[in-house]
Amino acid sequence: MNIAENLKRIKAEIPEEVTLVAISKTKPEKDILAAYEAGQRIFGENKIQEMTEKWEKLPKDIEWHMVGHVQRNKVKYMAEFVELIHAVDSLKLLKEIEKQAAKYDRTINCLLQIKIAEEDTKYGIDVDEAESILQSDAYRKMTHVKVVGLMGMATFTENEEQIKEEFSFLSTTFEALKSRYNSFTTLSMGMSGDYNIAIDCGSTMIRVGSAIFGERNYD
Ligand SMILES: *Cc1c(COP(=O)(O)O)cnc(C)c1O
Repeated sequence: MNIAENLKRIKAEIPEEVTLVAISKTKPEKDILAAYEAGQRIFGENKIQEMTEKWEKLPKDIEWHMVGHVQRNKVKYMAEFVELIHAVDSLKLLKEIEKQAAKYDRTINCLLQIKIAEEDTKYGIDVDEAESILQSDAYRKMTHVKVVGLMGMATFTENEEQIKEEFSFLSTTFEALKSRYNSFTTLSMGMSGDYNIAIDCGSTMIRVGSAIFGERNYD
């Protein structure tokens, strides 16, 4: 598995305006450094502790994204450095992010995770819940949190038509909200197996792990 070559191939394949987040969860620091030396600066992790340990050891110009489900009591560990939290699914969580970001006098960018897959195992909220968060007084008063768009994960299936429908739905929702919320810039959808479909459907940010770093081993 040649990380630099994988990155180069994917970069050549995707439009320049689409942001590539390299998902390095479970991968050792040497793999991240191989991608870093090939020019990659944005990395994503799904566990706060693992991301924090990597942030401490690796070059400080890396931009760290949290792409996994976030427990409120762990926000404090990443508030000092996290650049974008992809999977916000409640106003309560946003309130905690606001509180922790304030301690560092930072603004943390967030995406609302919309549930588009049919599996019950995938987290996320529906469009009405997203709207009610964005409309709430509590959110409007926040000065250390900015919701900059939406994130979604398609069903794990071979059925490309279904994936396309799910991504198209999310894209339509994103465009509708973008026309009303100035802060909306980012639509995070697409992983190793479906990023080409996601880009065709309007993704602005893809989260790619195994296609860069190889399959993950979970013990
Ligand atoms: C692991 C993960 C990815 C990357 O998955 P690959 O299929 O390896 O590209 C993307 N998004 C989230 C939320 C993940 O947890």
